[in-house]
Amino acid sequence: MGKKNRRGSRGLPYLVVSDGEGNLFEIPAYRMVGMYLNTPVLPSEEEIIALPYGSDLFELPGRVALGYDPRKNTIVEVRDYQGQRVYPVAAFMAPAYLQYYRAAYRSVPGAPRLPLYCYTALGWKGGQFYVTATRIDPDLRQDLGLFNPALIETEARRLLRQLSHNRLARHLIENCVFRYGCPAARNFTLGRWEGPLPVSPGCHAACVGCISWQPREHGITAPQERIGFVPTPEEIAEIAVLHLEQAPRAVVSFGQGCEGDPLLAAEVMAEAIRRIRRRTDKGVINVNTNAGDPDQVERLCRAGLDSIRVSLNSAQPHFYHAYYRPRNYTFEAVKASLQIVRRYGRWASLNYFVFPGFTDHPEEMQALEQLIRDTRIHMIQTRNLNIDPEWYIQSLSLPDHADEVLGIPRWLQWLKKTFPAVQLGYFNPPREAMRRMHPASAR
Ligand code: SF4
Repeated sequence: MGKKNRRGSRGLPYLVVSDGEGNLFEIPAYRMVGMYLNTPVLPSEEEIIALPYGSDLFELPGRVALGYDPRKNTIVEVRDYQGQRVYPVAAFMAPAYLQYYRAAYRSVPGAPRLPLYCYTALGWKGGQFYVTATRIDPDLRQDLGLFNPALIETEARRLLRQLSHNRLARHLIENCVFRYGCPAARNFTLGRWEGPLPVSPGCHAACVGCISWQPREHGITAPQERIGFVPTPEEIAEIAVLHLEQAPRAVVSFGQGCEGDPLLAAEVMAEAIRRIRRRTDKGVINVNTNAGDPDQVERLCRAGLDSIRVSLNSAQPHFYHAYYRPRNYTFEAVKASLQIVRRYGRWASLNYFVFPGFTDHPEEMQALEQLIRDTRIHMIQTRNLNIDPEWYIQSLSLPDHADEVLGIPRWLQWLKKTFPAVQLGYFNPPREAMRRMHPASAR
């Protein structure tokens, strides 16, 4: 392995490994390392923060940890420690945090594919875990410390009794709250902030890392099942009005992890939106979508949709197609949808999957810059892509040009400087935040 610059490494946290039984420990002889695509990188101390509360830790089977040896100024493979086989460990960070580097390791032949989480570089120093990341959104709406399990249980059971006639309510509580622990569904039960409105069993894409449908040959399980029915407009409106009328900073969002793409149910959504707006003018009605059908997006705008969040792994069409594998639309349709939303004067965000070493490469940055100029979006919500990193790199045939990569901290600076009016964050903004960020855009 190559020599690495020793400057700044002295304060770096130690490498964390596992014994294969879930017992984690640090190795004081080595420092933590991150990765751009397949290239190990020594993080700087400014890129390290304490592990956010609410994060999970994973040991990575079939893989060999990489650590930095400061005595030899080199990155080394760490297979054993004190005669014991050890494995790499990664953090799956709490919402609202953006990773700078993925965990550093090499896979051995036959390593099992990792499930659909994000694997962020992790270290240990002074009695504390550290990650290479930043908080990208100060909004606390999904902070684990604000979820009281006993209160959620009580409120969920009360709502189940109150709304037992409503299939969507039953899905949100029985599946989303009790089975998946979905933060948006739990916030719905507590009557606050952003609530979910899943509507569509189908999708017109086949994303490599789809979280609601995985074919057997992928060797992993989707963490959520798709909703098995299309709710009626009245079922949707009943839930949405209840939430919008009582919740502070209220948002309701079509397009959730437990469904396909909501645009396949656009006719039902449009009627639901009209019914909602006949009963309340409060809050924001948002759709999270891949936006592959501009006609349906326009239908929703005409019905009264307030905002859209469009998911993208790349602003380069060939990389977008390699990941989304759209069945009957193209990247151009996605762009057209964003332009329609802006023509109607509504809020437009990207849900942009950030992958260190790819997102911050000059070619992707140039494509993103053009996309922002062409669509005049208001906001970029950065997401850590939840996927086995090596599977993603292979699926897209990503070239490893680590020497050309800017680094995520500088990528963020570039975005802020190039597009000062484009808001960076993680969550769909409520109307108050829209007004603050873009006064002309909040209806
Ligand atoms: S757009 Fe969403 S539901 Fe459709 S394949 Fe991709 S991740 Fe799955």
